[in-house]
Amino acid sequence: MGMLKPTLTALRKRCPRCEQGKLFHRFSKMHRQCPQCGLPLAPGPGYYIGALYPNYAVTFLVVTAVYWIMLFGLGVDQKTTLWTSLALLFILPVLFNPYARSLWLSMMYHASSNPTTKDWRDSDDREESESKDVLGEPPHIQQKT
Ligand SMILES: [Zn+2]
Repeated sequence: MGMLKPTLTALRKRCPRCEQGKLFHRFSKMHRQCPQCGLPLAPGPGYYIGALYPNYAVTFLVVTAVYWIMLFGLGVDQKTTLWTSLALLFILPVLFNPYARSLWLSMMYHASSNPTTKDWRDSDDREESESKDVLGEPPHIQQKT
């Protein structure tokens, strides 16, 4: 599968499965599951720690580029350049966090042989049966769409 389409879907912060459902209901508040197709978006605790990788990579690239452009392209003095870069180091990861999470979810979803995705499916089934126990309903086989 080509990587361009999943990446574009991820950057639009849409569900990797149906490509329609929005992942966030506020800037950084994620839905528990896709509002369109029901794909669980929080497969387990610490799942999005991996999103730090794309986030760190983007922050590093942008701050490095801004530093060099300010200092050598625009001739801004070193002190201003340094403080701007430091500020970006703190601001960018926060701003980019929803996109990093979306990209991470997309990567994990499309890497179907990845063990994380397998755990994800297992935890999905477990969650469903647990919620039935709470409701006191008899267990039955649910038809997957
Ligand atoms: Zn969906």
